Amino acid sequence: MARRRPLSMVAAGAVAVAVTVATAAGASSGPASGGHHPHAQEKPTRVVIIVVDSLSREIVDKYRMKSVQKLMHTGVDTPRGYLGHTGSITVVTHNVITSGQLPKHMGWTDDGYRDVDGILGDPEPANPDQLYITSDATTDLFKLQQAAGYPKLADYLALADPAAKTFTISPKGYAAYAFGGVGSDSLITFGSGPECTTGGSWRKPTGINVPSYILGAPCSRFWVHSGYPAYAYDTTKLPAVLYPLDSDRYTTGKDPAHLGGDVWAADAAVEVMRNDPSWNGIFVTLPGVDKAAHMWGGVTDPGPTGTDGDAMTHLANATAVADQQVAKIMAELKAQGVLDDTLVVLTSDHGSVAGKHFYGKQVATRDYGYYNWYYGDAENDATTYDKPQDALLPLVATGNIGLSYSDSMLRVWLKDQSPAKVDEAAAVMRTLPAVTAVWRRHGSHYDRVSPVRWDRMTSSGERSWFADKAQELVDTEAAAYGPDLIATLPDDTTYSVAGDHGGIQRAAQQIPIVFAGAGLSGRDLYAEVRSVDIMPTILKAMGITPYHSMDGIAYALPTAGHH
Ligand SMILES: [Zn+2]
Repeated sequence: MARRRPLSMVAAGAVAVAVTVATAAGASSGPASGGHHPHAQEKPTRVVIIVVDSLSREIVDKYRMKSVQKLMHTGVDTPRGYLGHTGSITVVTHNVITSGQLPKHMGWTDDGYRDVDGILGDPEPANPDQLYITSDATTDLFKLQQAAGYPKLADYLALADPAAKTFTISPKGYAAYAFGGVGSDSLITFGSGPECTTGGSWRKPTGINVPSYILGAPCSRFWVHSGYPAYAYDTTKLPAVLYPLDSDRYTTGKDPAHLGGDVWAADAAVEVMRNDPSWNGIFVTLPGVDKAAHMWGGVTDPGPTGTDGDAMTHLANATAVADQQVAKIMAELKAQGVLDDTLVVLTSDHGSVAGKHFYGKQVATRDYGYYNWYYGDAENDATTYDKPQDALLPLVATGNIGLSYSDSMLRVWLKDQSPAKVDEAAAVMRTLPAVTAVWRRHGSHYDRVSPVRWDRMTSSGERSWFADKAQELVDTEAAAYGPDLIATLPDDTTYSVAGDHGGIQRAAQQIPIVFAGAGLSGRDLYAEVRSVDIMPTILKAMGITPYHSMDGIAYALPTAGHH
């Protein structure tokens, strides 16, 4: 694919500087040969970002993910690292990581989006009444990225080496489009299927410039089994049925010739390395931990129960599979002799909050969780979300919800944004179950418009985290396209499915951020590194000079040869 970012977005002089610096840094190293250790001043020319979806530090520890822990020991770990923004959700963080922008500056802040500038609206001009669900979007996310006007990591990598290619691999479509952006040469995800009816129905690789060695012939390796309930395994019952499996897209499945989920994503990354050796960026998402955590409650997953229980769909297996895929990707980099020339970033897009206190509706109907997540109407979603959980009914009764999104935090985009009507909705939100505080958007920050319910927090750790971080975290989504009102919730509380994300809780925010490869030392960074800091830190490590401002901080990573 041609690099489609319009050159007009880029100041010509700044490009020249960026290219010059990058070339000077990259020319002497190139693809390192096996066993070669670069001198300390040589900078990596490649980057691999592995996002293990929903991986909190708590999950790494509890399930003893050895390969992840090894990377933390041998590379540069950030023990005090945290996500650093809300909404702490997939479709937001995948773009934060590769833009260096906070949600308030990157074009969307959450799963809901108000089209205040008429970017998605048809016809223009702006229609602030038009609300969208960003996780229903694919190329529309490109429009939002481009309208916000910042380069993505793939754009910088293209400038640094115009002959090299970047690949984005994510079984979850919206994660792929957010992660890669329009500048990613190849974007590999799954179609909705079913297709290819030989031996059942299948989901096939789709996306943008999907390489022929991934697409393959109908029903070949990267096509996975699809169909509900045939490929739902033990997830057709509560609580998993709220968001069940429907194929081997997010789990491995049982067919060794067509393994899905994390194995699919890691195998695709390995195929890219073997078939396109000139790559300089691979962004890969492993979706299995997220799916298991949503279905079964994260760290409270009891494991398989009943005669139909299937260990495969549960968190113990999902973490083991993800861990093996991290090892597989590292082993391939090593085998090809490019690990010293490759900066590896292992991180997550949010953690997982266990719904011990659950305010969703428990209905044993496939995908009923969407009615817990959403209330209202979105322009790009055919469903009217009109089956709210009881907990939300007082807010529904105002008649003023345009769209709401509820997981481990409540966000609402109002129909009538007049001050009196916002006040009215805020007053109602204070009364909803478990709410710890209500926050009202005021320009580029949120005002807290209720007392803090410290009594609803169960530990001093939770209270001090709230005191330190709640304001900072909600402020990161203060944009005109963001929610009018936010209600924070305490630990172990969801309104949606058994395990969820979205909020300010430590379980949602305390994620691994690890830098490895590239001749880095085993010394850790004790700064409070956030997701938004990953991109500027990558650019600094690679010697690429940014030509657009970023919200994140560029940290210097300690290298083994540097004392
Ligand atoms: Zn996610």
